[in-house]
Amino acid sequence: MTYDLVIRDGRVDGAPVDIAIAGERIAAIGRGLEGAAELDAGGRLASPAFVQPHIHLDKVLTGPLLGPNRSGTLAEAIAISHRVKRAATVEEIRARAGEVIRAAVIAGTTAIRSHVDVDTIGGLKGLRGVAAARDDHADLCAVQLVAFPQEGIWRDPGTDELMAEAMREGADVVGGMPHWEDGLDAARRHIAFCLDLAQRCDADVDMHVDETDDPYWRSFEILVEEADRRGWGERTTAGHLCAMAGWDDDYAAAVIHRAAAAGVMVATNPPTNLMLQGREDFEPRRRGIPRIKELLAAGVIVGAGQDCVDDAFYPFGTADPLQVALIVAHAAQLGTPDEIAAALRMVTADAARLLRLPEYGLLPGARADLVVLDAATAREALREQAPRRWVLRGGRVVAETRVERRLHRG
Ligand SMILES: [Zn+2]
Repeated sequence: MTYDLVIRDGRVDGAPVDIAIAGERIAAIGRGLEGAAELDAGGRLASPAFVQPHIHLDKVLTGPLLGPNRSGTLAEAIAISHRVKRAATVEEIRARAGEVIRAAVIAGTTAIRSHVDVDTIGGLKGLRGVAAARDDHADLCAVQLVAFPQEGIWRDPGTDELMAEAMREGADVVGGMPHWEDGLDAARRHIAFCLDLAQRCDADVDMHVDETDDPYWRSFEILVEEADRRGWGERTTAGHLCAMAGWDDDYAAAVIHRAAAAGVMVATNPPTNLMLQGREDFEPRRRGIPRIKELLAAGVIVGAGQDCVDDAFYPFGTADPLQVALIVAHAAQLGTPDEIAAALRMVTADAARLLRLPEYGLLPGARADLVVLDAATAREALREQAPRRWVLRGGRVVAETRVERRLHRG
């Protein structure tokens, strides 16, 4: 049998195999498979394509338009973004978002979940701009849109109406930011509002939760309880969860186990949170990340996101999930072979669970969304930030990278 395309000698689980593709799907994995076209991977690592579970495409590349975030805090980042958010146009957002989507695809990404601000400052411009960029790049990458109340819902009157409008206009997922409200009671009402909306729209939920060092904030527990009570746990993701680092150990363990039982998932965003959190600590400084090892040990699905690319929150970032995985590995101290594999899953299979992508994976029948890395092992791929030799989406090569390095000696 001759398949449409065969990736020959790709390394999967430590052994070389051929990956045969028919149409948009993986048809077979084995040895000696024949293809009408072939890519010789030559022992390079073959992986399911990267998935970006948490990014803000409406804000990317606004850094040059802003003044510096002098305190380095989340609060100042939100405040200095207001002017740019007010002045932004749909077309300008579309262009910036498109530039980062293309970079993400070249880095091996074929699915992205983007939060977009929904508030009375920018209205629905963020949603419309990123939706246009999504449509522009539909051949390269799938983009999910999260309606995100960055300024709070009760603190920014009118946002409740805008959130409902965003879902009517085609946002896929209901976002949230309960810790931005004035205390836990308002946070509880914020969470209830978002879950009501999600249930009405039959949508998943993906909130920014406790993105603060202040251990007073325990809205994760409220979200887990409320999502579980409504049977929405497996459709709920909690992002950031920085305050968890400051909780006492027994409380954190109890909430983590509750989240695992409810099926609630977590998106950690160490690039941005290492930059933003712990700014009011002296030493020791908190890292601003959740208890990743404990979450993994409890069986919670954890994805790792870029969050920000050159904006008020974070001055760096290239929308490269392999860079995110390396930063996660440092932040959460993931260094054994199993832990390195877990770091890579956070930007592949586990991130795909957060997006609830059907037909994802490196197995027959799955969509042929794949990346071939210029490395033999996961560790080498992370250590060398290996070039992405080929990126395939639906069986078609959508990007390739060749790097030429030369050393000249006297
Ligand atoms: Zn975020």
